[in-house]
Amino acid sequence: MATQVSALRNFIDGQLVDSDGEGEAILNPATGEELAQAASSTPEDVDQAVAAARRAFASWSQATPAERSHALLAMAERLEENGEELARLEALNAGKPLAAVASDEIPVMVDNLRFFAAAARCLEGRAAGEYMEGYTSFVRREAVGVIGQVTPWNYPLMMAIWKIGPALAAGNTVVLKPAETTPVTTVRFAELTAELLPKGVFNVVTGRGEPTGQALISHPDVDMVSLTGSVETGKHVARTAADTLKRVHLELGGKAPVIVFDDVSLDSALETIAGTGYYNAGQDCTAATRVLAASNVYDDVVAGLADQAQGLVIGDTLSPETTLGPVNSARQRERVEGFLERRAEHAEIVTGGKEPERPGFFLEPTVVAGVQQDDELIQREIFGPVITVQQFSDEEQAIAWANATRYGLASSVWTRDVARALRVSRALRFGCVWINDHIPLVSEMPHGGVKESGYGKDLSVYSLEDYTVVKHVMASLS
Ligand code: NAD
Repeated sequence: MATQVSALRNFIDGQLVDSDGEGEAILNPATGEELAQAASSTPEDVDQAVAAARRAFASWSQATPAERSHALLAMAERLEENGEELARLEALNAGKPLAAVASDEIPVMVDNLRFFAAAARCLEGRAAGEYMEGYTSFVRREAVGVIGQVTPWNYPLMMAIWKIGPALAAGNTVVLKPAETTPVTTVRFAELTAELLPKGVFNVVTGRGEPTGQALISHPDVDMVSLTGSVETGKHVARTAADTLKRVHLELGGKAPVIVFDDVSLDSALETIAGTGYYNAGQDCTAATRVLAASNVYDDVVAGLADQAQGLVIGDTLSPETTLGPVNSARQRERVEGFLERRAEHAEIVTGGKEPERPGFFLEPTVVAGVQQDDELIQREIFGPVITVQQFSDEEQAIAWANATRYGLASSVWTRDVARALRVSRALRFGCVWINDHIPLVSEMPHGGVKESGYGKDLSVYSLEDYTVVKHVMASLS
């Protein structure tokens, strides 16, 4: 099983190719040691990839849904067959506990691809009809063209699958730039699936946001750009795309509120909330990290979350005992620590907050209590193993606080009162509301935000629709 990677190459026009850009070190976040080198690809590399995707578009967009579906099914099978190797590479490059990638992420990705394969055959327009006398109208859903896709470092391969799957299913071709710190599994996946797709349908260029990503999102021959990343980058992508009026698809993170009323069974609720708040070291745009607790259970919630945090095992990400990995980079750890250092006086670190004495970019799982609505810790996405707890007095205040950030991706409400659960889920301005759970995702249901969490859906048939354009064809009957 290959797990040691040396120099990564770009994947363009069906093969691995060298870039003229300088090589940069790719680290294992659990040790801080070099795992691989990847090129900072040049605008010329991006040109070649876009040209290959454009050439491939002519025939791929005309392939039958069945042909595209079979290709995606074969990719799913290849992913499954190589799941062990890909899980290990993802664990090493992204700092994830291996057991979690192998059991949670890989099977989900395989299912996602199988869903997109099936959905490729079910895209529909409206039924044809005579809306004006003497004419028949119908609607065609057609591929957009060449899609430039940019992925983040928290779920490198899964985010790539969420983008490639619907784009290819709908007949588009793709040039994808993985995050600069986590390109390993995306390049390997392209290599593993090389002969399953026609040349040029799927291309990967490694590199930083600037110059590589910038060359992609501003390329005149790219028809649509799709990003998962920060709000700032999302706004920049949208502004850049405006110059050539590219379509834009943005998933920009969140600040999920977790509203806990006093009628739930706290032990099991807190186990799930901590489990999904610290999952992936909190580097998840839907992470259950902003807990709002009813006044009469607030102390128990704080104590229960601290217990859960203290029960996590920090360690070697390849060990089955490890339940909490490092954050992705030294820069990200500094960023998270910055939030903790700048906290207001009333905010109390109940547990965690320190760097454990070991190499790599680890941070202890942290609970911060006593936070207030205007605090930076509440208003900005931390993207690390930090759960905050606020105390609310009634339902109205809980809803108002939950909604009062710039984000709108995911949320959850915990109560046994059905009417209250339905009232609150209606009032929450988020792309998703879970009731008495947090984070479960399924291929059939949409994932995506409102407000500054962006627009466009991942997963589900909605994501396929996002990667299509609607054409009206109107025929005179005379
Ligand atoms: P980022 O937005 O800078 O990077 C995300 C991706 O965008 C990377 O591939 C990056 O290379 C690329 N990018 C950056 N500038 C670009 C440009 N000008 N043109 C094209 N591509 C560009 O995010 P980050 O710095 O890695 O992380 C910062 C914060 O973003 C995190 O702390 C978190 O709040 C958020 N984030 C959210 C998600 C998510 O899943 N929604 C994922 C990663 C990061």
